[in-house]
Amino acid sequence: MEHIWAPWRIKYIQMEKSKGCILCEKPRQDSDAENYILFRGDKNFVIMNIYPYNPGHLMIAPYRHIDSLEGLSDEESHEHIDLTNRSIVVLRKVLNPEGFNLGINIGQAAGAGIADHVHTHIIPRWQGDTNFMTTVSDIRVVPEALAESYKKLKTEF
Ligand SMILES: [Zn+2]
Repeated sequence: MEHIWAPWRIKYIQMEKSKGCILCEKPRQDSDAENYILFRGDKNFVIMNIYPYNPGHLMIAPYRHIDSLEGLSDEESHEHIDLTNRSIVVLRKVLNPEGFNLGINIGQAAGAGIADHVHTHIIPRWQGDTNFMTTVSDIRVVPEALAESYKKLKTEF
């Protein structure tokens, strides 16, 4: 897999790690649009990654603070997969990607940014996006692009 050059992620990397867990905090707040939460299931939710590797980079996470996939109950794991599939359907419809990378990083050694709250990444891919992203990587356009994508995706969930 070629690496995607996403320079705005430096803000995330340099950001002081908040003491709380954002995957616990955000669903507790009553501001889904501000938090880019796209969908709430019974056991899991779908949230946009605000430091995306590509447009439409989503994350599926259980509400429960748990650090690994095998600790999820049957109900939680089934819904986790259901929401992953549902997200793929929505992304195909709205962004028309040519492929996806799906991934779960378990543990800091594996590169998990939020190591103690398991989540599945869904990253839409297009042919040549590793080059494409370098030409549209103006940091200032990203918040507007996020809000725009949020609106489009939200209506399809
Ligand atoms: Zn958590």
